[in-house]
Amino acid sequence: MSLKRNLGLDILSEKYAYATDETTGYTSARKIPDRWVATTCGYCSVGCGMFVGVKDGRAVAVRGNPGHPVNSGRLCPKGLAEHYTLEAPNRAKYPLLRQNGKLTRVSWDEALDVMVENFLAVQTKHGPEALGVISTGQLVTEEFYTLGKLVQLGFGTSNYDGNTTLCMSTAVSGYKRSFGSDGPPGAYEDLQKADVIFLIGANIAENHPILCQHLEANPRKTLIVADPRVTKTAMMADLFLPLRPRSDIALINGMIHVLIQAKMIDRDYIARHTTGFEELAQSVRKYTPRYVSEITGLEEELILKVAFLYGNAGAAFIGWTMGVNHSTKGTETVNAINNLALITGNIGRAGASPFSITGQCNAMGTRESGFASSLPGYRKFESADDREELAGLWGIPQERIPAARGLAYPDIVEAAVKKKIRALWVIATNPIVSFPNLDVLRQSLESVEFLVVQDGFHPTPTSELAHMVLPAAIWGEKEGTYTNSERRVSKVNRAVDPPGEARSDFEIFLTVAKKLGCYDELFPGWTTPQDAFEEWKSVSAGRLCDYSGMTYELIEQHGGIQWPFPQGTQDVATSRLYSDGRFQTEDGRAKLFCVEWEPFPEQPNHEFPLILNTGRTVEHWHTRTKTGQVPILERMAPNAWLEMNPKDAHQLKLRPHDHVDVVSRRGRISSVELRVTEIVAPGQVFVPFHFAETNANQVTQSAFDPISREPNYKQSAVRVEKSGEQRGKRRPRRWSLWPRRRRSSSQ
Ligand code: SF4
Repeated sequence: MSLKRNLGLDILSEKYAYATDETTGYTSARKIPDRWVATTCGYCSVGCGMFVGVKDGRAVAVRGNPGHPVNSGRLCPKGLAEHYTLEAPNRAKYPLLRQNGKLTRVSWDEALDVMVENFLAVQTKHGPEALGVISTGQLVTEEFYTLGKLVQLGFGTSNYDGNTTLCMSTAVSGYKRSFGSDGPPGAYEDLQKADVIFLIGANIAENHPILCQHLEANPRKTLIVADPRVTKTAMMADLFLPLRPRSDIALINGMIHVLIQAKMIDRDYIARHTTGFEELAQSVRKYTPRYVSEITGLEEELILKVAFLYGNAGAAFIGWTMGVNHSTKGTETVNAINNLALITGNIGRAGASPFSITGQCNAMGTRESGFASSLPGYRKFESADDREELAGLWGIPQERIPAARGLAYPDIVEAAVKKKIRALWVIATNPIVSFPNLDVLRQSLESVEFLVVQDGFHPTPTSELAHMVLPAAIWGEKEGTYTNSERRVSKVNRAVDPPGEARSDFEIFLTVAKKLGCYDELFPGWTTPQDAFEEWKSVSAGRLCDYSGMTYELIEQHGGIQWPFPQGTQDVATSRLYSDGRFQTEDGRAKLFCVEWEPFPEQPNHEFPLILNTGRTVEHWHTRTKTGQVPILERMAPNAWLEMNPKDAHQLKLRPHDHVDVVSRRGRISSVELRVTEIVAPGQVFVPFHFAETNANQVTQSAFDPISREPNYKQSAVRVEKSGEQRGKRRPRRWSLWPRRRRSSSQ
């Protein structure tokens, strides 16, 4: 503080000056912009429309876009404070190269020369698949499309995946199995038109807050929420089902059983549009209300009630998020959800849909165009026709397109530990905090010979380990499109310049392509994201995710456009998939899958008697690289906490605000503040996963869905002990967030 300020002579008049803005009214003079730039929120997949206020080249304010069909002007706390992320003190500004153990500033030219040289050296020595790439759901679609071509065709490795496998790959796999293709069938409008809305493992009040306004706009709905935890969303429910952890398959099978017995299914729809009904009916026979009650802990009457409510609805909507996806049985749970919707004909109609609520702002974009778990345009690696079509569009030999997907994210991590992957490019993600079972992940990153971290932020726990850091532009600094959960493609615009020498990911990819020598072949003449958009439009034409009728101008004009939007489409209206009952399978019918409930892999025992659930809080985003630097959000939720039921707290002689350690077979979260609350049931505890300082993934397990490869973050067996009072003689190993050999940065 200055002397003038100390003496009271400086009253910070500039800071506290107010003025009237023609849009926002009486407000801080510092927040009155010169211009407002329309864009889309860069956090979650709700896809809210917003304006960024720019004054003297700086982002000074954000406001919701009142004309946007997703949010009608409202924003959640993260969106309202998003402009602060642009000037966060941890923004990455310069390319850094590790020299003599220290990250040292270098030019872009040198950085990308060294990067390409190292990647090629590893590939020459160990084969093309020795390079792995882990991307994100945070780039614009144009960047995903470019990156996919660069990695698969330029570098020639198919070991490419994204952090979307940590959140949405289960929904993708479930859709592909049931409907023959990825793609959420419904629209947000369905929340306003459904008679019954059934949310399973979806705490939208915290994680997708603006969706709640679509619920509020539907006064006649019955809202049913199934969750082991009394979340804020559960508190909004007409009917809350506090089921035991991971018993959702039993509940859904039980509902199907009840509806078949009561003849409350759509026989005509089943006969015309599905296969596998007889097998399904046989497989759910044992899921009587009594059996389901034993598994779920729900009263039999409640199971009957929810089944009849769903079965009697003229239009029923089922939404889910991580409570379903973060599981070794996640894909099958999605199939069970799809079964329920299909046998009751609740798909492809207003208000009627099974619907995955996606996580990141553009997880959908990488699913559509990314060339990671599918070929662009939801084409299949294993389909020779799809490969031939794509090769024709790109003018390359078909043999260059892989006939099978490469390693998924967890398998890339494992391959690095086994030294099969020797070089790794990590883009806009922070696996040291977000990947389960931290010790294995750390081994993996420390095993590779050359680790490049490309991110808008540095240092992060992951970038601290890198051999090279590439500073990237973030939301607000670049142009392109995001697709939200309801398949709405919205425009993202550049409001301000990136800091220092940071560049857009698009520009970085094109420069890497030039250094690699594949620019002219793969990206001929490209200079702007719109070049990628135009090619992507033609690649998507005729596919389920058809963009070919869209233009940037049309997207802006309508506040986003849902795909499919083939060339020549005139009407920009709400769209739903499968309204004609034709699915993307070979016979055009949806597949009903028999799925069985089974206990989750790591059951509690005497030593680890509690089931740990992990999740989010409304104030923060993922690993807090963005929100941890936004003062208003950080002040609201500065630390992690552990929720524990009063009965367990009493038994363990713990009191509210005690600091406790959470211990599993794999590690320990140290010194978390205890919240004693009936939000969690006895035998269960909950911790938010955002906080690097008390990293929840020190205790989570390496258990993955065998189909989608998504981690089972939700049920880990743990014990809780008061910090500093560790039991027994064997002192559990202490886990630190930071690398064992702490490295410094010169940035
Ligand atoms: S709900 Fe999601 S998209 Fe909307 S403002 Fe909040 S974080 Fe952004």
